[in-house]
Amino acid sequence: MIPCANPKAQYLSYKSEIDEAMQNVLQGSAYVLGDQVAMLERNFAQFIGTQHAIGVANGTDAIEIALRSLGIGQGDKVITVAHSAVATVAGIEASGAAPVIVDLEEDFYTLDPQLLENALVDDVKAVIAVHIYGQASAVDQIKSFCKSHNLFFIEDCAQAHGGTFQGQRLGSFGDIGTFSCYPTKNLGAIGDGGLISTNSDELAQKMKMIREYGWVDRVSQIKGRNSRLDELQAAILTVKLKYLDEDNQKRKEIAQIYDQLPTQNIQIPKRRENSTHVFHLYVCRLKNRDELKQYLEKHNIFPGIHYPSPIHLQPAYKDGIEISSNMHVTESICNEIISLPMYPELSHEDAQSVVTTINSFFNTHD
Ligand SMILES: *Cc1c(COP(=O)(O)O)cnc(C)c1O
Repeated sequence: MIPCANPKAQYLSYKSEIDEAMQNVLQGSAYVLGDQVAMLERNFAQFIGTQHAIGVANGTDAIEIALRSLGIGQGDKVITVAHSAVATVAGIEASGAAPVIVDLEEDFYTLDPQLLENALVDDVKAVIAVHIYGQASAVDQIKSFCKSHNLFFIEDCAQAHGGTFQGQRLGSFGDIGTFSCYPTKNLGAIGDGGLISTNSDELAQKMKMIREYGWVDRVSQIKGRNSRLDELQAAILTVKLKYLDEDNQKRKEIAQIYDQLPTQNIQIPKRRENSTHVFHLYVCRLKNRDELKQYLEKHNIFPGIHYPSPIHLQPAYKDGIEISSNMHVTESICNEIISLPMYPELSHEDAQSVVTTINSFFNTHD
């Protein structure tokens, strides 16, 4: 059986270190927002190359707290995409703001910067670009658009821990970068967790307040909420952060095996120039996606679909979300994409057998 993701395999890879780190927390005196969280924040900021990192409860909260720290809320709008985890839009709405949706670049499935001008309606205050699957959005173009129109730029890095653009880590380009540490993510907790990156002292301080009721010395100076990160997750993440580059390298090696797939039958991921794709997911595109998925499942290989339905077409959103552009790319890829098994512990033999099985599918389904 080859699953799409395998967080337990990752625990087993670092079991003795993780067990020891957890024991230390259990024997310690703080279980939330203590030394472990502070250490993770220092190490993660250094890893990303920003002045600050802030630990929060999950990646959705990270987006909400980022927006709130920028003063964005009720009555404001935020441009983003519909080809993402629902969390991107849920995080915007949790702040009180409303999303304005644009389509994608056909090659990379990331926000199409050409569509920003037209999406710039009244009350737009920020752009959230999602580095989907582990690859950079058009960071330079989006950033310069934001700069020239006085908008904040937030990077949703939930799938791109460790990815780079022009040699610099994702999460260090925008005013704020937001990360999820959901178990299957490139940097995954054994439970929920999230991180936020920024170079601004002022924003960092404000986000630390918002994550705990707006407190300074246990008095609420601004309105906040509870989005604390706990010490157990922070200790686990600190162990895994040490190995993140190595684990991402393993993902890239698996991607190279998948790159041997027959490109006349199946489109493999295109890589943006001057960037490092960290392959949170290896997503192919083909017309008979559903048939291939069934075939693989019959052979005990379990691919995923990220995502089967764009956010604006899901029941909760289909009557109430502002769409700014034609959604051609977003709506056509959702029926054609398939995520092949991808996690650092996936053996090269198993990756090779995924390739072989897909080849045999094409040989019998021409
Ligand atoms: C996982 C994910 C999130 C949200 O993360 P949670 O930790 O589940 O709240 C946000 N954006 C994207 C693109 C994601 O993949």
